[in-house]
This record gives sequence, structure tokens and C-alpha cells, in this order.
Amino acid sequence: MLSDIKHTVVPLPWQSEHWQQLHDRINQDILPHALLLRGVQGTGKGQFALAFGQRLLCSNPVGNVACGKCKSCLLIKAGSHPDFKIVEPESKGKAIKIDQIRDVVDFGSKRAQFGGYRVVIIAPAEAMNVNASNALLKSLEEPGAKTIMLLVSHQVSGILATIKSRCQSLDFPLPSHQQSVQWLNTVVSDPEKANLLMSVAGGAPLRALDMEQQEWLADRQNIIRSWVGVLSGRSNPVVVAEQWAKYPLSDLLTWLQAWQIDLGKVVSGADASVLNQDLMASFKEMAIICSHNKVFDFYNYLLELGSMASSSTNPNPQLLLEQMLIRWAGTK
Ligand SMILES: [Zn+2]
Repeated sequence: MLSDIKHTVVPLPWQSEHWQQLHDRINQDILPHALLLRGVQGTGKGQFALAFGQRLLCSNPVGNVACGKCKSCLLIKAGSHPDFKIVEPESKGKAIKIDQIRDVVDFGSKRAQFGGYRVVIIAPAEAMNVNASNALLKSLEEPGAKTIMLLVSHQVSGILATIKSRCQSLDFPLPSHQQSVQWLNTVVSDPEKANLLMSVAGGAPLRALDMEQQEWLADRQNIIRSWVGVLSGRSNPVVVAEQWAKYPLSDLLTWLQAWQIDLGKVVSGADASVLNQDLMASFKEMAIICSHNKVFDFYNYLLELGSMASSSTNPNPQLLLEQMLIRWAGTK
């Protein structure tokens, strides 16, 4: 959660172009009142929004970033700046409710207490339910003076068209693999590990860092062993579903989809193009008992589950995992 970050942040190396563009607009006093920061999850859009909000409110920016020392910066770090607001779901995967947006509308109708900008970050914007979205429209139509709304989204299809049309969009594509590995290596200090994490995270550097911090690489080995076990009949799907229920469903499904693509390559004899090379032994084992058709049918099924999991506000993860694993254990 962005509101958990209690320090001054800076933009990431691959965001320098956007950062510079926005600063040019500050200097020309043509900053839009609403920006939609969009792109795949894990590239640091939220961090960018936070860094930009801190910069806008900082009274003494140093080299275009917040100083971290002035009164504004200290208040933001303490989570109590009166002109700065972060709106997020109460817990991950939940909706942003209308009461939270009413606070934003109220906030927008007041004058800045420090006499400068006022900043609202809504992340992820697609988490707003319909009522909340409609309530926000009013603020977007009649923005207060020097009020900047930063909407962060990795699923813009979930945002009302009327909201999108009132925002200027900033696209955040995945950085290059080389740039990501270089950055990640400054944190993990192990080029080989940084490289592997980036592959596992599908090219999204902050997701890779998150996995590292949660020691997901070790869990990943356990997960694929269970995945092979269920297919070969050694593991009970219901027991495995119970063990997997502790993982974020969207992450699990993303991994399984990537593994299914790799398994398809091994079944077709294209071992060299497998992305998760460190899991080759598991793919080989599954390729012996898995037909080409099953691999691709199941891949499509996983895509369906992925969109189901992201569209429903409250799927029952364990039940969904049980159904999936029972199906995986079925016909070869
Ligand atoms: Zn400052």
C-alpha cells in the first residue's frame, strides 16, 4: 500500500522522461488537474505518483525531487499533510468506496492550507465501485484551484469512460530487461538472482522486488513441485488448494500461465526458448504425461480464471483453486 511508505521517494530510472515532462509543465504552469498513470502492474506507477505528489508539496525541492526535510515533506512522511491525500482500498483486492471519494470531494472544495498545490492519489483507480466513480466525476468536472489528482491504474478497462476522458494519460511501459536487472541488482547485489527474478516477474521490476522481499523464489519451487505432483497423481488437489490459498491469487495465476507457456515449448521440443530455465526438470517431467492439447486447453482455462479473479470483487480463492487443481489432475 502506498500509504505505508513513510519516506521521501524519487522516480525510478526508467521514469526520467515522464518526470522531466511534468516538471516542464510545472514551470510553465500548465499542469493538468487530473492525470491517469497507466500500465502493467509492477513498473512503479504508484511510486512515481507518490514522488510527484511529494515534489509538488515540497517547499524546497532539490534537483527536481522533494527535499525530505522541509515541513511539508515531514508532514507527508508522518501521514498528516493537510493538502495531501492517498485513497486506496482498505485491504488489497477490495473496492474503494463512496465514502472515501466523498472525502476527496470535500477535500477538493477547500483551499490549500499551505497555499500551494493540493494532491490526491487514487490507487488503483479501477478499484472504485460505480457509486464512488460517479462521485469522483463531480470533482473532475469542477476541480479546485491547484488541485492535482493522480489516478494510478493497471487495468484501465475497469475505469468509467467519463472519468478517463477527463484525465490526461501517461503510459508506463515495462522498462527494458537490462535496465530492470541493473536497477534490481543495486538492491539484491546478485546479478544472477536479479536476472532470474526479472524473468519470473514477467519483466515488471517492482513485482520482482516484491517477490524477493517475500522470499517467493523458495515458494516457487514448492509450488511447481505441487503442480507436478497433482498432475502425476502424487498430490491431492484439495490439500494443495488449501496450501496455496495463502498466496495472492493473481500472482499464482500469472505464474501458472507463464509455466504453461514454457511447458508447451518443452512438449514441442523448443527447450531453448523456455523462460523459466531453472524449472526445466519439472517441465520435462510434466511433458512426459501431458499432451499438447491439454497444455493449451489448460492455458486458455487459466486465462479465463485470471479475468474472473480480477473482475470479481470477492472470489473464493480456495474454492477456485480446488476446481482448477481437480481439473489439472484430470484427463491427460
Ligand atoms: Zn521538502
